[in-house]
Amino acid sequence: MYTRQICRRVASGASRRSFASAASKESSNSIAYLVGAAAAVGGLAYYNSESTNKVASLEKPKDVDQALADLKQIVDSTIAAEIAVEKEKFAKYWPRSIMILFGPPGAGKGTHGPKIENLMGIPQLSTGDMLRAAVAAGTEVGKKAKAVMAAGGLVSDDIVVGIIRDRIKEEDCKFGFILDGFPRTLVQAEALDKMLSEEGSAVSKVIELSVPDSVLEERICGRWIHKKSGRSYHVKFAPPKSMVIGEDGKPVAESMKDDETGEALMQRKDDTSTALVKRLQGYHGETVPILEHYAPNGVVKSVNANQKMNGVWSEILAALSR
Ligand code: AMP
Repeated sequence: MYTRQICRRVASGASRRSFASAASKESSNSIAYLVGAAAAVGGLAYYNSESTNKVASLEKPKDVDQALADLKQIVDSTIAAEIAVEKEKFAKYWPRSIMILFGPPGAGKGTHGPKIENLMGIPQLSTGDMLRAAVAAGTEVGKKAKAVMAAGGLVSDDIVVGIIRDRIKEEDCKFGFILDGFPRTLVQAEALDKMLSEEGSAVSKVIELSVPDSVLEERICGRWIHKKSGRSYHVKFAPPKSMVIGEDGKPVAESMKDDETGEALMQRKDDTSTALVKRLQGYHGETVPILEHYAPNGVVKSVNANQKMNGVWSEILAALSR
């Protein structure tokens, strides 16, 4: 078994190197094809016989470029199949990576969440987005949540816990997920811990985006959003290219368009200074105690989110690494 593993590594390394050098030669050089093919067959033999058969059945090349492209396709698909097998093992036997992106409204969870999503390859689950979608679709959950959300209050624990319980069972969460806006109360944190402990998992990281309240009103009240993509703009800090300022010194609503699609931007109903007061009360009274709940596990990392975007991102990267 051990010998076989070594052979496999040597052969696959040799095959990739020879194949790469073969591919870079002049297309008229048929020796390149032969070297590439021989190395690929040698390497692939240690992966599986199906790939070896595919290479062996390739016709003698009339066109070397085409032959190399065929070989490359087989090598790529073999590697992709190997990766899929490894991923499956990882999903089955390793604990999920479960992160909480924590912070007051306007701290930058919606801005940095998608970047963490890209970096780690796990989805960002925003209970706020899910509830807004439910309100827009007029579902039972949406009807219950609509008024309390517009006023900046908290939707009942039962509803949000139920939403998360269902969502984290989906296929895209098999390696983990990033929670944004959940848990928001200790009851929700305890419910989360319980559902994770049932599968032997636990929250692995809490990233707290720390911003003083005094900065948040300007951030929140100047925020415009592209609903479909979640892209976020700000009249002062990140205006869309199309923005026109009216005679009253405020942006003209019709001029607020998404830079990428040209579609209309919108303002959230609860992004007002009145609703913000209530949202911040909820945050300090009910949400901040969650940090103390997770602190003894050594998973809480605080990031100064009141600085330039690049600085915030560097701190997040440092907080994410082990
Ligand atoms: P967000 O987009 O995270 O600011 O959430 C918008 C609104 O959705 C909040 O002000 C609450 O009314 C509601 N909401 C989102 N997540 C939760 C949660 N975990 N618990 C209770 N209410 C929530």
